[in-house]
Amino acid sequence: MKQFSLISASLLAWYDRCARTMPWRGIHDPYRTWVSEAMLQQTRVDTVLPYYERFLQRFPALPDLAASDEADVLKQWEGLGYYSRARNLLKGARQVMEQFGGQLPSEPALLRKISGIGPYTAGAIASIAYDVRVPAVDGNVLRVFSRLCGIRENIGLPEVRKKLESLAAAAVPEKRPGDYNQAVMDLGATVCVPGTPDCTRCPLSSFCDAFAHGDAESLPIMPVSRPPKAVRWSVPVIISGGRTLVRCRTESLLRGMWSFPLLDCDPGSVFSFLEKKYRIRAQAAGDPVHARHVFTHLVWEMDVIPAIAEPGLPDPADFRWVTLETLSGLAFPAAMNVPLQAARHILQA
Ligand code: SF4
Repeated sequence: MKQFSLISASLLAWYDRCARTMPWRGIHDPYRTWVSEAMLQQTRVDTVLPYYERFLQRFPALPDLAASDEADVLKQWEGLGYYSRARNLLKGARQVMEQFGGQLPSEPALLRKISGIGPYTAGAIASIAYDVRVPAVDGNVLRVFSRLCGIRENIGLPEVRKKLESLAAAAVPEKRPGDYNQAVMDLGATVCVPGTPDCTRCPLSSFCDAFAHGDAESLPIMPVSRPPKAVRWSVPVIISGGRTLVRCRTESLLRGMWSFPLLDCDPGSVFSFLEKKYRIRAQAAGDPVHARHVFTHLVWEMDVIPAIAEPGLPDPADFRWVTLETLSGLAFPAAMNVPLQAARHILQA
């Protein structure tokens, strides 16, 4: 329906002039592309940059990652969020060692068999690292194509998404498919942005249906999203003889990351709860502080309560008393920033 060869040529010419410089660009290294794409999911480029450099210093090649343990990988990922990406990267690296002789395959169908690699990442690795002509369709690409091709239907519907995916696939050129995919990503991130796109700077405006109809701001038509569910926690930061109480999470959310106790009780009953359930007699050591952390579908509303208990207490089931030094070596999610700061403050005093 569209003059895709003209569109890809215009986009590549724009990319050659305006491409953002990034350390994972201009190299044909599937492992580095994989790491960068895993980190970039739901995360801004600026945030990813220092993590990417540090991660590759620690795990310069895929076998280094495969030979590491999960706690080490999560520590490198600490603060980046969406920790299942890190766990899947490790699992996937081990799978590549076992099933593909340590080399990521170039075929998207094989890439998709690897843990943590979905259609988007498979497309990105195959096209960027191996020059395979496949699309890499993410939210940015769906937005650009819904505007470019004037798709005025809810992109949450499977048939609409399919239509957009096949348009995106048809537009990928034979030559430089990896650069082309990165050019669409850049366009979606810097010009054809959500809300108000900057059409005056767009290399595709003369081909764009939404631009011609003046309704780019109302596209794509998104599914109605439900507000995230609020969950309340009381979070005692208990100090006992120079140590504080933490646990390694086994729940699917933030599994393998460390946390302060998350108690499902009213802040006023924290101390009786601790005594009854964990046999810890503690008392307040400061004013409670409210903290909030928003996940995709969930909001944690936390009352962080500094507390002090008698020294020499044994580890309660699932928990560990740790010193400040041990605490610094454990991986905590950003959701724990406020309690972590409180613990450091008291332990350093
Ligand atoms: S002209 Fe505007 S709406 Fe169309 S692709 Fe470019 S930035 Fe997006």
